Amino acid sequence: MHSNVFIEVIVEESQKLTRGSLLQRIAIAPIAIGAFAALAAEAEAKAPQNAVMYQNKPKDGKKCSACKFYINNKKNPKANGGCTQVLGSISPNGWCVVYAPGPNKGNK
Ligand code: SF4
Repeated sequence: MHSNVFIEVIVEESQKLTRGSLLQRIAIAPIAIGAFAALAAEAEAKAPQNAVMYQNKPKDGKKCSACKFYINNKKNPKANGGCTQVLGSISPNGWCVVYAPGPNKGNK
């Protein structure tokens, strides 16, 4: 669906373009569509912070840095990192309902 809209825009724009610049845009289109699909897939796979009751402080001694889904901030382990399950910047001292103790998945 999105691809069709994207292609229609390219076709409309192509009427204003020279042959050279049109070919250049057609060559870039699959890359743009791929990037969009990758972003959409990531957004679908992860939950918004408010949906999992994320908070930036521990709960009952449980915190993100001890959760198996936490992704360490490689440059500074005390700074916010990420999470394989939850969108956005995640505090190592945060917590959410998806919390599961275990070794972290990796580094950001
Ligand atoms: S699943 Fe929840 S508790 Fe675990 S790292 Fe992600 S945000 Fe923190």
